[in-house]
Amino acid sequence: MDVSCSKCGALHWKCEQLSTSTIARPLFGACCLSGKVELSAIRKPPRELLELYNGTSHESKHFLDNIRSYNSAFGLASLGVTVDKTVQDGHGPYVFKIQGALYHHVGSLLPKPATNPVYAQLYFYSSGEATNFRMQNNQGRGLRPTVMGILDQVLQQNHAYVQVFRTAYERLKEQREQHPNVQSEFFAVIQCEKGTDARRYNAPTADEVSVILPGDGSIAPDYRDLVLQYKDGPLKWIYETNASYQPSVYVLLFPYGENGWHTNMALNLPVTGADEEDPDDDGSGGGSRTRTKISILDYYAYRLHQCADDSDHIFQARALLQQWIVDGWAATDQRNLNWLKNNQKKLRIDLYK
Ligand SMILES: [Zn+2]
Repeated sequence: MDVSCSKCGALHWKCEQLSTSTIARPLFGACCLSGKVELSAIRKPPRELLELYNGTSHESKHFLDNIRSYNSAFGLASLGVTVDKTVQDGHGPYVFKIQGALYHHVGSLLPKPATNPVYAQLYFYSSGEATNFRMQNNQGRGLRPTVMGILDQVLQQNHAYVQVFRTAYERLKEQREQHPNVQSEFFAVIQCEKGTDARRYNAPTADEVSVILPGDGSIAPDYRDLVLQYKDGPLKWIYETNASYQPSVYVLLFPYGENGWHTNMALNLPVTGADEEDPDDDGSGGGSRTRTKISILDYYAYRLHQCADDSDHIFQARALLQQWIVDGWAATDQRNLNWLKNNQKKLRIDLYK
């Protein structure tokens, strides 16, 4: 794989090139649809995390062997899916198999009384306290407090969503203290999508956090926002179409909190095509008109091609890479099924024609 795509830089074998290629400008379709898909580059993780990824020290080998457990210990949201363990009998390579629909959750920012904090709640404690809780929550899995400490520090300092969650927590706490007599719950709303430019490094900042008070309809969250609840109550779902989904679940693959796929990422089209807004285009690629948005499949295809200039830590992530791919495919499938479900009328009309 030593021929790089002249548009996106992805590495390919020569025989994969499109017939429109020239010797000087090899073109490929599978990585970037010949330049129509353009995403921001994957950045090298902070040094401490990169050392855990490089596989040379004992600590690093231990980290890579347990990377899924470490990732879930540090996730801001949970991967909700039924894992099918029947294929795992202790022989052969590691298999990650899932069954049924995906249902990712993000819990309240305060733990329930008399329970250990989990997920995002752990980021509001000091590093030492958080490590103790994480060790308790993962008893019997052989995880190490030293690695926990390194990861806590890396994510506290670099992950955009960790910082945004903390701002939300502090603002909600302040509001709660100022309005002790209000019975109903307070929420924080985070605007995750800023513009449609997928090439920029897009992650929310503290400015994107707003607090809603009960009865105040001035900030109405929409499906692109992430809504956080201060105290208990039912778990909130986080959909795979939300930009915050990927950085909240895969914190060790995206340690800076780079946004993942969402429905509003524009394809890189000639000006005439890109200006027409298609209200029916949901990015699934199922419509009959020329689509203008990057589909979830385009997104994963782009990310799963290795680029000479990008960091390749995602490809070193072993079982976590596998999980991310399986999860991504399930999300793609789920989205296509939803499209079929919601477009029955259109499909029948096509059939009559
Ligand atoms: Zn390409």
